[in-house]
Amino acid sequence: MGIVMEFRDLKRQYNVLKTDIDKAIADTLERGDFISGQAVKELEQELAEYVGVKYCISCGNGTDALTIALRAWETGAGDAVFVPDFTFFASGEAPASLGAVPVFVDVDRRTFNMMPDRLEEAIQAVQAEGIYKPKVIVTVDLFGQPADYNEIRKIADKYELKILEDGAQGFGGQIGEKKACGFGDISTTSFFPAKPLGCYGDGGAIFTNDAEMEKLIRSICVHGKGINKYDNVRLGTNSRMDTLQAAILQIKLRAFREYELQKVNEAADLYNKYLKDYVKTPVIRQGYYSSYAQYTIIVDGPGSREQIQEALKQKQIPSMTYYVKGMHEQLAFQNCIRRDLSYPNTDYLKDRVISLPMHPYLTEEEIEQVSRIIIENI
Ligand SMILES: *Cc1c(COP(=O)(O)O)cnc(C)c1O
Repeated sequence: MGIVMEFRDLKRQYNVLKTDIDKAIADTLERGDFISGQAVKELEQELAEYVGVKYCISCGNGTDALTIALRAWETGAGDAVFVPDFTFFASGEAPASLGAVPVFVDVDRRTFNMMPDRLEEAIQAVQAEGIYKPKVIVTVDLFGQPADYNEIRKIADKYELKILEDGAQGFGGQIGEKKACGFGDISTTSFFPAKPLGCYGDGGAIFTNDAEMEKLIRSICVHGKGINKYDNVRLGTNSRMDTLQAAILQIKLRAFREYELQKVNEAADLYNKYLKDYVKTPVIRQGYYSSYAQYTIIVDGPGSREQIQEALKQKQIPSMTYYVKGMHEQLAFQNCIRRDLSYPNTDYLKDRVISLPMHPYLTEEEIEQVSRIIIENI
């Protein structure tokens, strides 16, 4: 039996970056600036510069980042927030936790991202009903590919809505020369270990070009601070990135920029080469670039998804089902599901998707082996 394959191999990454990461951790321990320390300030600047926005505010995790952004816009009871139906729970949980009503929107079958036409229908349905005020569109850059910002921005302008880019999976993606986490009026990301850029625990960040928003968000992150955290001018929360995590991220961001992002794209090209004649491989739109948070294929035909996942498991190859259900099927949202909207594409995808091992340290041999097992079991 060879080396066991990992879904996202953080151990291999650590082995490559070990000297630098160990030093960054040791330096932080020496300095002892564990909260809002030097590495946090440096990292925020590096992230803002990389993304190409004016301000980056780090925080506790990607869910907090979404919630804090929505709080900065005073999102709450009476507001409708539009969210793709096929995403991780947090994209809908954040607005719902503030008392807003999430309105789920069907996604495209090939890009997995929110469909602009369905979004406009959903906005019109909410307007026609006249109970909730359309306020924010949460776009999700699912599996690493930016959402359709050209169309969604037009809709946001037409209906005077804000765009909150949930770039938890999108960091590193691009449309043309413009980078993900720069498409929203506010954008957020997560540094959960398995994300495209991950730390060694929880972490998140919020991006904006708006100076007033930056101040407000920094205040919300630290108990609604005014001149300092003992001067409290509003209700906030406690959501900060640990200095240790920031120090680790500084090393990982360098590797991400220098080669990891390119490596995951090479891995995706290899999977595409082996699998394209047998399954539906991911479609990256013209001019778009993905950071491949996930490499997700679609297998049609009754029973074949379970058969493939079982065959992979037999060979100790991990695979995942992102996602097993649409948001409209989550019990937590049952009291806000609209009967006038439908989700044929998420219903199609949830029965057919498989996410395969994906990370910058996969070898061609491994990709070939995974692909062969899929082809043999189709
Ligand atoms: C992971 C994820 C989040 C939440 O990030 P955490 O750091 O785990 O809180 C939000 N949205 C999407 C789309 C995600 O994939």
